[in-house]
Amino acid sequence: MQHYALKPGIIGMLFVIIVAVSLLLYRSFGGNTKTIEQASLLNQKKGNVMTWNEVLKICRDGNPKAEKRVEKTDAEWQKLLSAEDYRITRLKGTESAFSGEYCERHEPGIYACKCCNTRLFDSGQKFDSGTGWPSFTQAITNNVIHYEQDNSHGMVRVEVTCNVCDAHLGHVFPDGPAPSGLRYCINSKSITKIDNE
Ligand SMILES: [Zn+2]
Repeated sequence: MQHYALKPGIIGMLFVIIVAVSLLLYRSFGGNTKTIEQASLLNQKKGNVMTWNEVLKICRDGNPKAEKRVEKTDAEWQKLLSAEDYRITRLKGTESAFSGEYCERHEPGIYACKCCNTRLFDSGQKFDSGTGWPSFTQAITNNVIHYEQDNSHGMVRVEVTCNVCDAHLGHVFPDGPAPSGLRYCINSKSITKIDNE
């Protein structure tokens, strides 16, 4: 009788062990996912670092609101801007590579939107990408840039515009340096360098 009584006990224990191990495995996988999400959130809080995943998420779910808006008619923009600046910022043009005045410049300063003067980029985050366009790894703050998927010219890219006045700035690519891994490829004619205060 003792022999038969032991068997269900052993099966029961085995069952408990299997359930415990399954729970541990489930928790450890779930835990890893959480850790990655938490680390990403922590990074953003710490250094306000925008990442490619964040860019894709914004394209999908919507852009953060700008602190203010500047809206003008097409005729007003045409009056305010040179023909070439107007073509690039308001008609989504692109200046020729290596033609822009800020392509090779790296001295300290702030780059503001050519149309509405909103501060967009800091020279501290400008780097020499060798592409022929001014390149930055981050914007000054996340909500000054508007991200939109751009399917023009047979490519899938992410267009960046000024979140305040909708000026076309350029595109952002996931091949920039750490920590963001982003390369904001910006037309010189879309930005203007102002003194660092
Ligand atoms: Zn602007």
